[in-house]
Amino acid sequence: MILKIAIPIPLGHSFDYLPPATCDYAKLIPGCRIKVPFGARTVIGVLINTAKKASIPESRLKPALELLDQEPVLPQTLMQLNQWASDYYHHPIGEAMLNSLPKLLRDGKAATVRTQLVAPQTLPSPAIKLNSHQQKAVDIINSNTTFKVFLLDGVTGSGKTEVYLQVIAETIAAGKQALVLVPEIGLTPQTVTRFQERFNVPIALFHSQLTDRERLDAWIAAKDGTASIVIGTRSVIFTPLAKPGIIVLDEEHDLSFQQQSGLRYSARDIAVMRGKLEDIPVVLGSATPSLESLYNAERKRYQRLVLPERAGTAIHPSFHVVDLRNQKLQDGLSATLIQEIKLHLSQNNQILLFLNRRGYAPTLLCHSCGFVVECNRCDARMTLHQKPHFLHCHHCGATKPVPKICPECNSDQLLPLGLGTERIEAAIKEIIPEAKVLRIDRDSTRKKQAFAQMLTDIHAQNYQILIGTQMLAKGHHFPNVTMVAIMGIDNSLLSSDFRAEENVAQLIMQVAGRAGRAEKPGKVFIQTYNPHHPLLLQLINYDYKGFTQKSLAERKAANLPPFNFFALLRAESKVQATTMEFLEDLAQQMQKILPAEVKLLGPIPAPLERKAGLYRAQLLINSKKRPLLHKILDHLIEQIRKTKLAAKVNWSLDVDPADML
Ligand code: ADP
Ligand code: ZN
Ligand code: ZN
Repeated sequence: MILKIAIPIPLGHSFDYLPPATCDYAKLIPGCRIKVPFGARTVIGVLINTAKKASIPESRLKPALELLDQEPVLPQTLMQLNQWASDYYHHPIGEAMLNSLPKLLRDGKAATVRTQLVAPQTLPSPAIKLNSHQQKAVDIINSNTTFKVFLLDGVTGSGKTEVYLQVIAETIAAGKQALVLVPEIGLTPQTVTRFQERFNVPIALFHSQLTDRERLDAWIAAKDGTASIVIGTRSVIFTPLAKPGIIVLDEEHDLSFQQQSGLRYSARDIAVMRGKLEDIPVVLGSATPSLESLYNAERKRYQRLVLPERAGTAIHPSFHVVDLRNQKLQDGLSATLIQEIKLHLSQNNQILLFLNRRGYAPTLLCHSCGFVVECNRCDARMTLHQKPHFLHCHHCGATKPVPKICPECNSDQLLPLGLGTERIEAAIKEIIPEAKVLRIDRDSTRKKQAFAQMLTDIHAQNYQILIGTQMLAKGHHFPNVTMVAIMGIDNSLLSSDFRAEENVAQLIMQVAGRAGRAEKPGKVFIQTYNPHHPLLLQLINYDYKGFTQKSLAERKAANLPPFNFFALLRAESKVQATTMEFLEDLAQQMQKILPAEVKLLGPIPAPLERKAGLYRAQLLINSKKRPLLHKILDHLIEQIRKTKLAAKVNWSLDVDPADML
């Protein structure tokens, strides 16, 4: 008997071993961990399967050392899922398998629980009476117990979460488990709380602050069926379930479902594949569905369920575009905006000012000679931060003291240029000194629990004006916010990245969705130098759907995803020429075997060519047909393994890249 074992090293295949010396062959079940000698080391792998024949001469086979599990840590469907992910993303199988396990299991600890998960002892909160749209969605989803993908397309505040809760109630009643994915638990504790308050069942919650031990306990509670609901961010999609019943993925358009290192996967796409393998329904929800998902709904691969209205008595906020051209601005704030802020303050309401840039100003400029402070290690300007006072590179994290005089011309006329959240905060405090202002961005929320405390304070009305980045855009329910102002979107409106419009449209609709969520109506102001931009005009008419249709037509005409299939090979090294040469050689090799339906673009330098001292470049592979793309990528990886320069660069392959950076 030969054992095929996945080992966590960056090679694409499994390795052959003989069974451990004293081992009952019947216990060698695929999905069990097994200790094996590998070179001079001992490593832990996962048994993929057994075979009669080895792929190398049997004399060279070594026996495995020890079987670590009595039963598989990875059940059949998870083995299949990992195999699929490894194939689809062209990532080494051993790394895919092992990295899907909690750290303690990778380290060889026993797969046993220390602290048992229990149900909360509180009385569950009652279900809300659904409106007819919600009820219809729940009924349709619940009439299905086998694989099917639903796209729950409901405007912000339409009661999507309530739909998830009532669908899951059925799942639990049927004795099955629900797997729930959310973008960032730290940012949406409210959503998690609603799950915890509604059900009287054990819930396994995977968040970033768990210890390794807590993570393993939660993982086992999911795997052995103790947990009726399993909630987490993207990686939770790889958690085994004893009795899978449904997968819910909230805010399916959110970029945080994209893993950006190692195995670069889309948790949404993995969720759909997992639903298929487990033969259970998958619910993808969003107020601003991705073009990919809308296209899948159009093609009837997904069933679209629409919640067109806000739940309860809340109505849509009204949109107002503030034309900045020729206006006098006070630290970027227009007179209109200031006047409206004062008005909403006088009515005792809360105001949200959105700017997706932290720090005081993105540029420090010498007024005498035009010099700007740049990062020594990146092709980027450094952001000025006021409290504490320093320059910060948002790309590599480098910091510098703020110069008092220009290093080029000795002038003392160094001026902050542009807007960051700190600057808005300072401006508001000066204009309306009596207002209680809270700034929420990654800088102000560094301390553990800081953000949760801020959310509590916002709900307690301890603050009147909230200034924040996209941390404030995500799924929050602030009933007293009646005014939202959106600033600093012009760069995104004019960006050349083909996904920029989609992303900014989603951001605007999500931020706007924070206004007027309860009894009081909401108003949304968009400050821009492009007041007639077609995208803005469409959004302020609540025509996100219209925007997506137009955008899909454009993508089709331009052979862009989801109509063509992309993969991006990225490379970086200390020497600019090495990075380019590596990709150029590969491109040349690949050209020889390229079918007509596949095109190579590049290599070209990355948009930010130098980052943290490394020169970055990329090669885009664009295919009309998905299977052809995968065939070409197999060749590509083979080529890379033969290339000497591969040792001198860091490279990574991104299938269906979410950005071209
Ligand atoms: P979404 O997830 O679509 O943003 P939520 O589920 O958070 O929407 O619902 C928004 C608000 O409306 C919440 O306070 C929720 O309790 C309330 N709500 C949801 N459904 C109903 C309903 N059928 N009737 C009254 N209020 C509802
Ligand atoms: Zn100067
Ligand atoms: Zn830098």
